[in-house]
Amino acid sequence: MTSSVSKFFEFMRLIGQLKQVKRTGWVRKNVKDPESVSDHMYRMAMIAFAIPSNSGLDRDKCIKIALVHDMSESIVGDLTPWCGVSKEDKSCREKTATSHISSLISEEAGKEMYQLWMEYENQSSPEAIFVKDLDKFEMLFQAYEYENLHNRPKSLQEFFDHTNAKHTFSTKLVDGWCKQLEMERELKQSKSDATQSSAELKQSKSDATQSSAELKQSKSDATKSAVSLGKEKLDRSSPLIKKRKVDPVPEEKV
Ligand code: ZN
Repeated sequence: MTSSVSKFFEFMRLIGQLKQVKRTGWVRKNVKDPESVSDHMYRMAMIAFAIPSNSGLDRDKCIKIALVHDMSESIVGDLTPWCGVSKEDKSCREKTATSHISSLISEEAGKEMYQLWMEYENQSSPEAIFVKDLDKFEMLFQAYEYENLHNRPKSLQEFFDHTNAKHTFSTKLVDGWCKQLEMERELKQSKSDATQSSAELKQSKSDATQSSAELKQSKSDATKSAVSLGKEKLDRSSPLIKKRKVDPVPEEKV
């Protein structure tokens, strides 16, 4: 095998590794079968593909940035603020990894990948800024999907809180999507609360009916007991009456 092919296969292996790297945020929250970094980047690329042509952005560039923005994670893993790695150290490790991956393919493609990654890292173009917004939005959308999938409304609230505190959406388009998503999520939550209240009301009515039936039953049992006690008393007194009736007639004196 020529060295360029063996390098290309190494590139394929590293990119393939992204299918195995689970997103740390979901792993930390014990989400069942969490998505991989690859899954996340694929949907971001598809969202970028779907942006309207009047967005004023270079769509192809957005797709490419989405495809490369996390590729270093095949080597360094998905480092989050909870991993104990400083921002500078994280950036340095990711830069080295991206440079290595880009060096495994043709010079032209490798250079483009590395430059696009740097553009994203430095947030130095409208497309890089847009893709950064997509990165957060795709994560929130996924959080909402996991909440629905596992029927645990608002269980991933911290992702929404963290994003709102740390990140304001720079592009109007993504900001609008995010507001819409939060509205849908709130509506779903209030519907779920209403359904639960209605179920609880139903249950409480059912409990009340059951208590009333039990009370009725207990009254009926008490009445039965009283009747049976009366009967028993009567039965017990009967022999006396009978006894009195059969008292021997005194024999006539002869
Ligand atoms: Zn990402």
